[in-house]
Amino acid sequence: MKNFRTLFCIMLLSVSCTLFFSCTNDEGLLITNNGGTTNNNNGNNVGQQVGSQSSITLYQVTNGNISKIRDYRVTGENLNYQRDIAKHDEIWDLVTKIAPLDQLEKVSEFMIYNGRVAGSSGFVIKKSADLSKWQLGIAIDKAYEGGFNSGGELAYTILHEYGHILTLNHTQLDAAISERSCTTYYPDLGCSYEHSYINEMYDLYWKDIENEHRAAQNSHSEQMAFYVRHTDRFVTNFASTNPVEDIAEVFSVFVTASNKPTGSSIADRKILLMYDSTELVNFRNHTRQNVSLKGSSLSDFELPAPGSWRRANTFGNPVLSTCGH
Ligand SMILES: [Zn+2]
Repeated sequence: MKNFRTLFCIMLLSVSCTLFFSCTNDEGLLITNNGGTTNNNNGNNVGQQVGSQSSITLYQVTNGNISKIRDYRVTGENLNYQRDIAKHDEIWDLVTKIAPLDQLEKVSEFMIYNGRVAGSSGFVIKKSADLSKWQLGIAIDKAYEGGFNSGGELAYTILHEYGHILTLNHTQLDAAISERSCTTYYPDLGCSYEHSYINEMYDLYWKDIENEHRAAQNSHSEQMAFYVRHTDRFVTNFASTNPVEDIAEVFSVFVTASNKPTGSSIADRKILLMYDSTELVNFRNHTRQNVSLKGSSLSDFELPAPGSWRRANTFGNPVLSTCGH
């Protein structure tokens, strides 16, 4: 049950590889551990923050509002980004439009950083041992690529990262239980509760392909073949990276799709599972109520079409060294 060992750096490294084996800088990903062979050669580990060269400004989050904790010592373009506080506020404003206040309480810190330097568009890391508090990082340069939230990409990044927070926090995982003692799905940060979102999805739609998935992690071509064999299970290619990425992608589609799926594919059933959760439906309603304000003063607020985001057609690469970043 716990054989998928997902090793996070939820700090989403940009080592997604496209279907044609080129590499992209995207929102980054979780790094799957293929039987202990994970190459985490970007120097990022579980729960590690973005490197000092990419950190710009750190905020504390209280009652849904941000207040500055510190400015990092920066120069050049990062100094310009640091001084542009209006942009920090604009990004945070979008976060609050997407996440309801009770969910903002899970985020204790908000980091503005340089995504080009870090190689990612967003990340989350735990800020408390029990997984109740998280830091959300958003790359300011990526947030304004092509204009603020162009194509809804920033909104997607926020949703995807929140998908991780919602499925890996203290109500979902018991961080005090080791992998050895865990009898349910173990996503590295803790042992999932039996009725957690991720364990339910894993039991229903991953357990039977666990061995096949593990065997497919040795190369991009095998990863691609695995996805092609199971396209009906996944809302995006990226979702086939591992169960942790899968559920974050399912959540992103759950929120951005205007209607419930009507098909019978496993991908559709994963989305429908989320409609059974009052917590997730409340989140979705909050986001979409703000979407409906589009066209007024909130014309910046745009959600992407489900699955249209840039990294949807990429895979998380379990063997980073093959991607040459
Ligand atoms: Zn992710």
